[in-house]
Amino acid sequence: MGKLEGKVALVTGASRGIGREIALAYAREGADVACNYNRSPAEAEQLVAEIEALGRGAIAVPADVARLDEVERMVHATMERFGHVDVLVNNAGFATLHKIEEMPVEAWDAMIGAHLRGTFLTTRLVLPHMLERRRGWIINIASQLAYKGRENLAHYCAAKAGIIALTKVLALEVSRRGVYANCIAPGPIETGIIPRSGPPDPEAEARFADSLPIGRVGTVDEVAPTAVFLASDDATYYVGQTLGPNGGDVML
Ligand code: NAP
Repeated sequence: MGKLEGKVALVTGASRGIGREIALAYAREGADVACNYNRSPAEAEQLVAEIEALGRGAIAVPADVARLDEVERMVHATMERFGHVDVLVNNAGFATLHKIEEMPVEAWDAMIGAHLRGTFLTTRLVLPHMLERRRGWIINIASQLAYKGRENLAHYCAAKAGIIALTKVLALEVSRRGVYANCIAPGPIETGIIPRSGPPDPEAEARFADSLPIGRVGTVDEVAPTAVFLASDDATYYVGQTLGPNGGDVML
């Protein structure tokens, strides 16, 4: 029997990268999954086919999580298909690179919008259903950069630090009402999230990997097990915590 047998999960930003791997891991553990995407419908439909091949239910649900009307439609479509949501993973996100003094205000707003506002909006709309059933698991994807910061990523780091704080308050408000809220703050993981500023530079990449205590960048399947754990009945004493699959880049 899977660790998430019979649960229904909504994973935002599931069309690629970490979200895709979490959605697949959830399905392998027995969950049905609503797979949110924004700009990658074909990838989301491919994921749905893979989840169905595992014998689980799945739908692809479009939404820019920064937009209230689109999040409303996403949650509505998920509820219509599955009747409820047990597990919400707020994972959708992207990165752009700007020095603070050059950062367009629009770039700041877009980053805070997708990460922090998106996490709030989706939580805001799913949480009442969870509280009504006194049953739910909310897992927010932050980043180790919330702790250590990085040049050119002020908007990203600030959004991720906000997500950790939001998760703590959420946990304070809901943990006695049947809902668990926790964070995952991954270290550098091989996905397409960081835009390249020039052609591939294997030497710089090797230097970066070597700067990490573990000596390499992580993979999406080194993050998904933490998301399975936090959504499972093994994590019943985790409240407002931030777990860090990060290769030792940050040690708290
Ligand atoms: P990725 O491979 O670029 O995937 C990002 C996903 O987010 C895509 O499915 C994309 O959907 C979706 N997305 C982006 N903006 C969206 C929006 N406004 N509304 C809905 N969906 C949106 O990135 P990733 O590395 O897997 O990142 C996933 C999460 O992990 C992010 O929150 C990221 O900050 C966090 N994280 C990543 C790393 C890392 O090193 N990779 C480290 C720490 C934390 P579409 O393609 O459909 O637009």
